[in-house]
Amino acid sequence: MKCLVTGGAGYVGSHVVAGLLDAGHEVAVIDNLSTGYRAAIPNDIRFFQFDLLDAEAINQILANEKWDVVLHFAALSLVNESMCKPFYYLRQNYITALNLIEACAINGVKRFVFSSTAALFGGKERFSLIPDDARVEASSPYGESKFLIERALVWADQIYGMRSASLRYFNAAGADPLGRLGEEHTPETHLIPLAVDTVLGLRRNLKIFGNDYPTRDGTCIRDYIHVTDLAEAHIRVIELLDHRSVTYNLGNGLGFTNMEVVQAVERVSGRKLPWDWAPRRKGDPSMLVADSTLIRWETGWSPRYSSIDVIVETALQWRKKHPHGYEKLVNECDLYNSILI
Ligand code: UDP
Repeated sequence: MKCLVTGGAGYVGSHVVAGLLDAGHEVAVIDNLSTGYRAAIPNDIRFFQFDLLDAEAINQILANEKWDVVLHFAALSLVNESMCKPFYYLRQNYITALNLIEACAINGVKRFVFSSTAALFGGKERFSLIPDDARVEASSPYGESKFLIERALVWADQIYGMRSASLRYFNAAGADPLGRLGEEHTPETHLIPLAVDTVLGLRRNLKIFGNDYPTRDGTCIRDYIHVTDLAEAHIRVIELLDHRSVTYNLGNGLGFTNMEVVQAVERVSGRKLPWDWAPRRKGDPSMLVADSTLIRWETGWSPRYSSIDVIVETALQWRKKHPHGYEKLVNECDLYNSILI
């Protein structure tokens, strides 16, 4: 299939690009490189660098060529930042997606895969798995922007027949098991890459936010899903889109506490991880774990890298090999190809 991927230079997008190429599909990437890295995209695929606010540019690409599927990852994704810059987030996520969805719909694209988020379920306390039909109540402009896009896709289906899959991710983590790609955010706010960098001595003391949550060890529980499993799910759902649109929760279905993550990092690295308690982080619910039975049932997908040790191991291997991430590789040889050769 001929696939157009927006945000293909980012963490999840680049792993999906790798999965599509490994499965034999043709891929082109659009990315403004605001948070992604050129080195995360293979040199031998087509790359368009522009911002999706440029409706004319996106329209040209969709009008000039026929694409079998468009996968949309390009977005700002820091929940806390969205609380400080709500309109920036709404514009940058929603308006860009509308430009893309409209261009796809009017140019006859029939399949669209959208990177949505569990953040649209809000910061409400829950002590059971979150079902696919849980009530949406976004508690940040980030979560709201993703829900607005899901709604636009409903109309693109009803009016233009463009089928879509909205995949509501839980905590994407880990790195490509072949070592081609990894996680690199600036600033980094996620637990696993921070813990990995700390154990490798690339940063000081990790802070663990809160020890008085009503969970098995007092720390928050999250559903870490390996990014390669996440990528595989995108490829599986494309097949369904010949018939209908779908919305799925996408998680491992397993919850790990922050303390269990700390222990996994120590176990896998064989080193002591320096960490301290810190107060609760505002807006963190005790537990966020997906009930992902629907996507498993309807597509046959299931996670291959569900163990927290494997997730941490791949993240650790990536950082060991690339302690400075992609930063130093920009404008040098393409990392992806240099590793494959
Ligand atoms: N966390 C932590 N210390 C950090 C970063 C995160 O204790 O430096 C905790 C955070 O409070 C939450 C869990 O790790 O309980 C997962 O947070 P992350 O930011 O990785 O993902 P989120 O679930 O917020 O999307």
